[in-house]
Amino acid sequence: MAKRDYYEVLGVDKNASEDEIKKAYRKIAIKYHPDRNPGNREAEEKFKEAAEAYDVLHDAQKRQQYDQFGFNGPAGAGGFGGGFGGSMNMDDIFSMFGDIFGGRAGGFGGFGGGQRRPQQHRGSDLRLKVKLSMSEIAHGVTKKFKVRKDITCSHCHGSGAEAGSGTETCPTCHGSGVITHTTQSIFGMMQTQGVCPTCGGEGSVIKNKCHVCGGTGVQKGEEVVEIKIPAGVAEGMIVNVPGKGNAGQRNGINGDIQVFIAEEENDTFVRDGNDIIYNLLLDFPTAALGGEVEIPTIEGTKLKAKIDSGTQPGKTLRLRGKGLPAVQGYGHGTGDLVVNISVYVPKTLSREEKEALAKFRDSDNFKGDSSTKRSIFERFKNYFN
Ligand SMILES: [Zn+2]
Ligand SMILES: [Zn+2]
Repeated sequence: MAKRDYYEVLGVDKNASEDEIKKAYRKIAIKYHPDRNPGNREAEEKFKEAAEAYDVLHDAQKRQQYDQFGFNGPAGAGGFGGGFGGSMNMDDIFSMFGDIFGGRAGGFGGFGGGQRRPQQHRGSDLRLKVKLSMSEIAHGVTKKFKVRKDITCSHCHGSGAEAGSGTETCPTCHGSGVITHTTQSIFGMMQTQGVCPTCGGEGSVIKNKCHVCGGTGVQKGEEVVEIKIPAGVAEGMIVNVPGKGNAGQRNGINGDIQVFIAEEENDTFVRDGNDIIYNLLLDFPTAALGGEVEIPTIEGTKLKAKIDSGTQPGKTLRLRGKGLPAVQGYGHGTGDLVVNISVYVPKTLSREEKEALAKFRDSDNFKGDSSTKRSIFERFKNYFN
């Protein structure tokens, strides 16, 4: 594949300021960041391509040479062309340019391979699935779970050290928490920094490790966790409970609990977004004469609804605000209780009932008009009601 012009890669013009170049790179790097595009080779290539362009363009001297000589660079200087992307792995890119993201900018971790602060261990997240009834969804609910997870070691209280055992300076990094690699690259000698593997960036190691947790500061345990689930959640949503997941090693940061929401089947209602659908099977005399019916609600109460005389099957009543509340951050307002009316035609009749009905068989009032024109008009009318 032909190499693209570095200015084109970053989408800036030839006179772009250093700041514009930095901004353009940051935007592209965040978009194609591997954390956001796991397993996407195209994104990875774009990410590397942008890193290469930025490496050249944000350095005044390299930029001037690139402007003058293009990819080939000045004779004898090695040139910019070829191999850059290949010789540099992701960790190198992060440790060289990590600073541009300002640590954890953009909402994902893992930036700044050359972080100088000691790294705090973060416990992993836990996942739970919870099945909710429609009434629980309507009101929100607090659920208790007994969770088996990593908890702070009770013996060393998370320090990882036996009582009285101090720490000593890490023999690998001599206390800096960082180790420096020097590598030869096409730009000359390049230094990259990484977290010390012996002490994990802390600069010190425990002399006498806790015999219960082996120095990790965590052990297996159980905790009863109360989780508040807001009203209005729906199947497939995830409620994140920060800090309730596995404990971080050595008094690090706790992971989260992610609660996956599932909905129980309901015998009476069907959910449609925040609306609740209820199918009302109306008796024939009430449909014809009009009257009052009781509509069940998700609260377990009953609402009275007026039925007009001559109500046809397929008519819809809408009881405003009697549906489900919108979950915070997913919209506003409360849905409706939608009543779909069908009319029940009796399957068995007593002799008396049969005789009464037979009297009406020839009445024009009992004969509907089934012409197409009429039914389209009815549908049109219902649509606007
Ligand atoms: Zn311990
Ligand atoms: Zn070390």
